[in-house]
Amino acid sequence: MKIHEYQAKELLKDYGIPIQDGVTIEDAVQAEAAIEQVAKAFNTEQFVIKAQIHAGGRGKGGGVKFTTSRESALESIQNIMGMTLITHQTAAEGQLVRKVMVAEALDIKQEFYAAITLDRSSGMDVFMVSTEGGMEIEEVAKTHPEKIVKEAIVPGFGLRGFQARNLVLALGLEGKAAKQAMQIFQKLYTLYRELDGSIVEINPLILTEAGDVVALDAKINFDDNALYLHKDIAEMRDFDEEDAAEVEAEEFNLNYIKLDGSVGCMVNGAGLAMATMDIINQVGGSPANFLDVGGGANVETVKNGFRIILSDPNVKAILINIFGGIVRCDRIANGIIEAVKELDLNVPVVVRLAGTNAEVAKELLANSGVSLISADSFEDAANKVVEAARG
Ligand code: GDP
Ligand code: MN
Repeated sequence: MKIHEYQAKELLKDYGIPIQDGVTIEDAVQAEAAIEQVAKAFNTEQFVIKAQIHAGGRGKGGGVKFTTSRESALESIQNIMGMTLITHQTAAEGQLVRKVMVAEALDIKQEFYAAITLDRSSGMDVFMVSTEGGMEIEEVAKTHPEKIVKEAIVPGFGLRGFQARNLVLALGLEGKAAKQAMQIFQKLYTLYRELDGSIVEINPLILTEAGDVVALDAKINFDDNALYLHKDIAEMRDFDEEDAAEVEAEEFNLNYIKLDGSVGCMVNGAGLAMATMDIINQVGGSPANFLDVGGGANVETVKNGFRIILSDPNVKAILINIFGGIVRCDRIANGIIEAVKELDLNVPVVVRLAGTNAEVAKELLANSGVSLISADSFEDAANKVVEAARG
C-alpha cells in the first residue's frame, strides 16, 4: 500500500525525524487559511505548493511550485488543485490532484537521496544513500551506479552505528549535520521495521543553508500482508489513487493487476497466470491483465472475473486457462456458460480446461449453445486468443 507525502511526513515526525512541514488541504477555498497558518507556524513568507498524488516526479510535471509571496502561493494552489498531473510514474492519462500541501520553503544547500528496501537476492534490508539527490534515482543507478552507496542490514541487528557512519561519510557530511544524519538514518530504519515498510524513500534529504538535515520529500510503501497489524496506517489508504478494477477485484478475493495489452486472462494459480502471460507474449500478443481467480474458482468467481476483465476497454479477446486440480473442470465449464449467458459478452472467449473432468467439461461447453472457442493445448489456446484479439 502506498500513502501520500504528507502522510509519510507525519510518520517521520512521529519518529523524531525533521521534515519540511506544512498544511494539507482538499479544497482551494481552504488555501488562504492554510497559507496564513503556515506563514505563522514557520515564520516565513516563502511557500512550496505540492500536489499530493502517489506518483513521484511531481516537480518535473509541474506539481511542485516554489513561491515567494502569499499571492503567488494562492495562485499556485488554484492551479495545482484539480489539475491532471502527468509524471513518469503516473498512467499516461495522468492523475487528478485532489489534495495539496502548503509547505514551508527551505533554503537548500545540498540534496541527497536516502532509501531502505528489501534486497530479495541477499534476503537483507538494504540502506542506500547518494549524493545525487533530487533526481530520478533510476537514472543515477544506470549512469553512475558507484554514486549509490549501500549498507546491507543483518537481520536482528538493525542499522549499526558504524553503518550509519559509513552512510553519512559517503554523503560528505561533517560535524553537526553528520550527527543529525546519523540519527535520522537510525530512526528511519526503526520506522521501516516497526511499521512494516516495504520501501522508505527520502528524495531529497537536504542540508539547509543553516546547516540542518531535513527530509524535504517522503515516500513510504507498506507490506500489505502486515497491514492488519497497523490499523492507523491501513486507514491512510486513498482509494482515489488506485485502479478501480483492482480495488473491486480485491473485494472479490481475486488477484488482479491491470496491464496495457489486449488479451484478457482468467487463470487459476499465480504460476499458471504468469506462464499464460508469457506464452501470450511469445506468440505475439500482449496480456491486458494478470488475473488469478484462486484455487477454489466457482460460478461467482468466474462471473466476477469476467466483469473485471471486461471493465477494461482495451480487451479484445479473453483467454480462460484453468487447471482442474482442487476445482473440477466441469464446474468451471458450468460457471463459464452461466456467466457468458448472463453477461452478454461481446468479445471472443477462448477456453482451455485441463485436469480433473476436462473431457466432461469440453462436452458441456460444446453442447451449451454459447459461442466459445475451445482449445486443447496451452499453445493452441494462446495462438487462438491472440488471433481473435487481432480481429
Ligand atoms: P517530487 O518531484 O515528486 O519528487 O517532489 P519533491 O518533493 O522531491 O520536490 C521536487 C523538487 O522541488 C525538490 O527536489 C526540490 O529541488 C524542490 N523543492 C521542494 N521543496 C523545496 C523547498 O522548500 N525549497 C527549495 N529551494 N526547493 C524545493
Ligand atoms: Mn522527491
